[in-house]
Order: sequence, then structure tokens, then C-alpha cells
Amino acid sequence: MAYIAYYIDTLNEGLATIEPNSKQEIVIDMDAVADSVATEPRSDFYPASVTQQTQFACAKCDAFNDVRGRYAYCANCGWRNNRATTEVALQRIRDNINAGQTTPSDAVKQAVSEFDSVSRNYADELQRRVPMKASLRKELQGQLFHSIEQADILLREVFRIDILRKMDNDRPFVKKMFMRRHVYEHDGGVATQRYIHEGGDTDVREGDLIRETKENAHNLISCINRMLSSFDDDFHGIFPQHEYGRNLTDQVAKRGAGREKRP
Ligand SMILES: [Zn+2]
Repeated sequence: MAYIAYYIDTLNEGLATIEPNSKQEIVIDMDAVADSVATEPRSDFYPASVTQQTQFACAKCDAFNDVRGRYAYCANCGWRNNRATTEVALQRIRDNINAGQTTPSDAVKQAVSEFDSVSRNYADELQRRVPMKASLRKELQGQLFHSIEQADILLREVFRIDILRKMDNDRPFVKKMFMRRHVYEHDGGVATQRYIHEGGDTDVREGDLIRETKENAHNLISCINRMLSSFDDDFHGIFPQHEYGRNLTDQVAKRGAGREKRP
């Protein structure tokens, strides 16, 4: 808003200098304004640090973004970078498994943690942008996405967001692996009765040390990528990509062409 206010002020000042019924070009150079305030105090619209924390090209419109934090909307088209940034993180986990730098059980913990964190961010946006009762807001804020089945029910029943819809055959596997994450995190990798009961794992007995495989870790990452794509699609079913951002390039090109044709 400070940026827009500055722009409007500068435009108005420029317009005030033009004589009625005359033509004159006014240049509003925001870069020059930014450069001229290299010393303190800077204009309000000029960010304190030149480069923010996460730079990304939008997966939908390819616009360049430079944002604080990690998850963000594309400034041009409004698409969220959650899926793209998580896919990169998951690929890094895959690479570390293959290079022997991460054990399969650590990879499972990390992958589920990525899923939890990206899902919570979508949930934060839902509770921030969708009007809702306080009780639902509280439920959303407290939702842990480690508990995949519970989270699935909440998202599906309230928002029609169906994260497990592409998972028909893999649901038992995903449930088991998310339960394993708990065992690795809290039980030293030793199968508990709760794990066997809720995770439906018939290959281990209570007290057995679970031996995680690379194959399982890779399969889990594939499943998480698929769930994430459903989450992303359904989230943007509620908050679609901005028409303006998507067509911006076309519009500018058309406007330019139209102007040249005028006598
Ligand atoms: Zn975009």
C-alpha cells in the first residue's frame, strides 16, 4: 500500500505540471527512487533487505518471486509455492537416501515432517481466509497432519479437500508409514502395540526393531507428492489463480498492438 500510495503521489505531482490541452511524457521510475534512498531513512515501500529469504519462479506462470519465509503466494498470479518448494525438499531427501547420507528411517521422519509443515501452511491460509466459526478455526489450528486419517476427515468434510483421493491402493501403506514416523520419533524404532494395532503392520511383533528400507522411504515420498498435488489442486479450487496474472503478458502485448494501430 505504501508503494501504491507513493506511485499515486508521484503521478499526481507529474500531472500537475502538465499544461491543459498539451502533451508531455512523465517518467515514474521507482528504481531511481529506490536507488536514491540507499542511505537511511529509506522510503517505506523499500524493503529493509534487498533480497528476501526465498526466491522462486512460479510453477504456474513462471513469474519471479522474492519472499520472506518459505511458503508464499505468487505475486503475479496468486498460486501458492507450497507444492513446488516441498517437491524440491523431498527430492533432496531422495538424493540423500541414494547417496547414503540419510538412513531410510530418518528419511521417513523428514518426509512426514515436510508433509506436516506444508499441510499446516495450507490449513493456516484456510483459517485465515475462509470465514468460519471459532471452534472450527481452533480445530484447524491444532490439526497435526502426522495423523493423516484425522486430518483427511476434517479437510474433506469441511472444505471438500480430498488429499487421499489418488491413494486408493496406497492408503494402508501411507497410514502404516505415518505411524512408523511416530515410532521412529518417540519409541526408538521399536514396534509398540499401538503401532501394530493402528498401523496394521502384520510383519512385526511388539518389541521388534523396525528395519526400514530405502524402497519404503522412496514409495512414501511418491505418495506424499501425490497427496500434495491433490491438496494443491483442491486448495486452489477455493482460491483460483488470478485471471489478471495469468493473462498479464497477453494483455500487455494486445494493448501495445492496439495503441500502435491508432492514427
Ligand atoms: Zn504465478
